Amino acid sequence: MQKFLNHKIFSIISETADQSGIPCYVIGGFVRDALLGRPCKDIDIVVVGSGIQFAQEVAAKAGRRKIKVFKNFGTAMLHFKEFEVEFVGARKESYQRNSRKPIVENGTLEDDQNRRDFTINALAISLNKESYGKLVDPFNGLSDLENKIIRTPLNPDITFSDDPLRMMRAIRFSSQLEFQIEEDTLRAISDNNERISIISKERIIDELKKIMLTQKPSSGWLLIEYTGLLPLIFPEIEKLKGVEVREKIGHKDNFWHSLQVLDNVSKNSEDLWLRWAALLHDIGKPATKRFSKEHGWTFWGHETLGAKMIPEIFARIKLPLNEKMKYVQKLVELHLRPIALVSEEVTDSAVRRLLFDAGDTVDDLMTLAEADITSKNEAKVKMFLANFILVRQKLKEIEEKDAVRNFQPPISGEEIMEIFSLPPCKTIGDLKIAIKDAILDGIIGNNHDEAYAFMMEKAKEMGIKYPT
Ligand code: ATP
Ligand code: MG
Repeated sequence: MQKFLNHKIFSIISETADQSGIPCYVIGGFVRDALLGRPCKDIDIVVVGSGIQFAQEVAAKAGRRKIKVFKNFGTAMLHFKEFEVEFVGARKESYQRNSRKPIVENGTLEDDQNRRDFTINALAISLNKESYGKLVDPFNGLSDLENKIIRTPLNPDITFSDDPLRMMRAIRFSSQLEFQIEEDTLRAISDNNERISIISKERIIDELKKIMLTQKPSSGWLLIEYTGLLPLIFPEIEKLKGVEVREKIGHKDNFWHSLQVLDNVSKNSEDLWLRWAALLHDIGKPATKRFSKEHGWTFWGHETLGAKMIPEIFARIKLPLNEKMKYVQKLVELHLRPIALVSEEVTDSAVRRLLFDAGDTVDDLMTLAEADITSKNEAKVKMFLANFILVRQKLKEIEEKDAVRNFQPPISGEEIMEIFSLPPCKTIGDLKIAIKDAILDGIIGNNHDEAYAFMMEKAKEMGIKYPT
């Protein structure tokens, strides 16, 4: 008997099954993850009969717990301790060409296993007393699990054409579990890639997010590229691909480079949005690419254009248009700044300006900029990374000293208006900018007294009258 079946919930379900004489199994993701030793809080229970009625009986036995019934789907859900248990009647599915929503009929366990996406997701374990803990594995899912293989139970062309979301799921599982997609299954994804068009953007981004959160997200993106899904779901990234050579001068392949930066960042951060920023940091490069004899290949302004592209990309792929988007935009816009800084002398004023512009994103910006150093020249990489240590030190020192990270003007617009008896006008803005620049350039300290003295002098220079 499988050890993980010792949880109380399984004995309650087992008793219920025997009392009502209904065949009952735990199936799918939970079984897969349990066999892999991965934690899983979702338990799917299949009964050959009514899932809703069965759930009601289990709930009564488990101390009259509330269940949530989804009549349209014929399913019911129950919370038990840390678990979310979903009950469903075994079903048979058939598909129509233009929808991933199947026609559903009652079926046997075998029918239910046939409708599953991968052999490793079709494993079922009996919960009835006489066969408690017995694995029902019609497609050799256990051996695929041991050999780390993603394979469809039936003909992959039909499986993927029926529900093309499964193509994204195959790639996501491959990336998440570090499994190989079996050859024929992989070929079928390429052959059916255009079917992805019937899948909603929300479903696709769910899978992309899961890929982005894996240990090495590049492996998922490389499969998306290999199977020809990339231009269909993310044309801007597709455009990063390739190297052009002119006058014997080439440039780096920005697709490879972006994936490398993504993996580098992922080693240091679990943050989904920092990872998106890493993947998209050079997204403005294709449109700004130029060649000249004088400069070779240039991508001038790609950081500004890239930042500008972020809102439309986020809107299309259904990522939120909120402060997370602004954060990604900011990192894309500023991603060259730390590198520019270490290439020259690291002056206090340049560090202060970086702190001011980056604000709270400065630490993540440094992580991104470090990850962005992917040169093949080892000496160069070493030199840059050493300089980055210096910049981080400087950032810390100056932030402690000057606190410009969340800069608040030491003199407000209202105060300036009052002092000079001025109505709201451009002069106020000019004075505020002059004060801010003086602080960032280290001419004055970030405090009211020095700012006040500086402002009075500046006002005199500008010919602003001080009311007597
Ligand atoms: P995760 O919970 O990590 O997303 P999972 O495999 O548990 O992975 P769920 O969406 O929770 O995925 O689905 C539970 C089970 O339902 C799967 O293991 C699989 O057997 C089946 N399943 C889910 N989605 C599909 C699908 N699109 N096609 C066929 N079977 C599916
Ligand atoms: Mg699950």
